[in-house]
Amino acid sequence: MELNKVKYKRHVKPLDTSEKPCKSWHFLTWFVNKLSRHLMRGKVKKLERIDMKGLKPPFIILSNHQTFSDMKVNAILTYPYDFHSITSLEGYYGFCGIRGWLMKRVGCIPKRRFTTDPHLISSCETILNEYGDILTIYPEAAYSNVGITADFPDSYGALIKKLKKPLVIVVHRGNYLRQPFWDWERKRKVKTYTTMKKVLDVEDIERMTSDEIMDVIRKELSYNEYKYQKENNIVIDEPWRAEGLHKVLYQCPHCKKEHQMLSRGITLWCMNCGKRWVMTELGELRAQNGKTEFTHIPDWYNWEKENVRKEVEAGEYHFDDEVDVFSMPNPKQFIPLGKGFLKHSLENGMTLDGFYNNHSYKISRPSRGLYNIHIEYNYCFKRRDPCIQISVADNTFVCYTSKKDVVTKVYFATLAIHEKLMRERMEKKQLRATQIPIAVNVPKSNDEPVAESTVSEASTAENKN
Ligand SMILES: [Zn+2]
Repeated sequence: MELNKVKYKRHVKPLDTSEKPCKSWHFLTWFVNKLSRHLMRGKVKKLERIDMKGLKPPFIILSNHQTFSDMKVNAILTYPYDFHSITSLEGYYGFCGIRGWLMKRVGCIPKRRFTTDPHLISSCETILNEYGDILTIYPEAAYSNVGITADFPDSYGALIKKLKKPLVIVVHRGNYLRQPFWDWERKRKVKTYTTMKKVLDVEDIERMTSDEIMDVIRKELSYNEYKYQKENNIVIDEPWRAEGLHKVLYQCPHCKKEHQMLSRGITLWCMNCGKRWVMTELGELRAQNGKTEFTHIPDWYNWEKENVRKEVEAGEYHFDDEVDVFSMPNPKQFIPLGKGFLKHSLENGMTLDGFYNNHSYKISRPSRGLYNIHIEYNYCFKRRDPCIQISVADNTFVCYTSKKDVVTKVYFATLAIHEKLMRERMEKKQLRATQIPIAVNVPKSNDEPVAESTVSEASTAENKN
């Protein structure tokens, strides 16, 4: 049995990511702009361009991501220039391959989420240097779970430094409020407000370190939809506005029980202890009886995240579940693989074991290198249910969970495991940096201040690396 390989019934060609990206067809740029304007009519409150005067492509856009509408608004903002977006593989699926054909000519580059693609940098360089177009990247790589900036790696600072093109940040507000990820099929009556801001010129990028660029990206891409709602007094009075919220807020803050939450209408409740909360028209929570633990929904979410982090740190986290598996080797196929068994832990990372076509298969993503995982609450392909997506270099596996409301916790645990491993790695590096100079200095002299100075310098150098 070859690791990360499935023996299919007939030949299956995986997506070739080494293929040179297609130059956008300008006719399609025009068409996508017209279509986006039509689809967003009456839904946009304001589009604001800041420090954009005189800026022409090539440049890079980093955009937040709340719903598919972000892409429509970005198409309006970048017109009349041709643009290219790094998009997830399933965006190419459908209409017998026609959608994929179109996406390619619109200028999209397919990417398997949270995998290392050796060809991605050269594709970005082709778009910027050879085509002279706009490159749009969504660092969060998925829709926001709860309307706040999702975790994304620090490597974007180094990427911008390497590509050396002006950096523009686009922040959409209101898209999540209109269509929260956990109930995206029903739209609330909220208009969107988007800012497009040039934050760095090439001269800034040449002068700054990757870490400094990353600080700018994190500051400028920061958003909080519930705070925005409250500050702007945006009323959401749909009588079903809280339905689905339990998929994100899966742990009761009163009895601490997990996966026992439910929601209907404007109410969220715990089946274990019976405590109930109401979601107000301004997006806050109020307990119907007793103390309100969290009025601000992201605070509840972050409390759960912190609980999972503690569980990982204490070595107590482990997840397993029987799942329904679909594999997506290329954008044209979702191949049902039947039942599989998904496990996740610090020691073994994420593994998927299954049996298909009379052969066993094993998919493995070790914890080292698995910096994030993609989850969905109502996946729009195949089945409207929660799922966890695992990608390897040449395949993607969509795993529909059978346990109730577990995907958010698996997402938190993946982040916590990565954070723990990175911290331990950094501590080991720092320890090595402090030990080596001491070993060199001790035989020469017992002069403590010299050794301390050397240690300090070595640690500083290590930190910079
Ligand atoms: Zn409870």
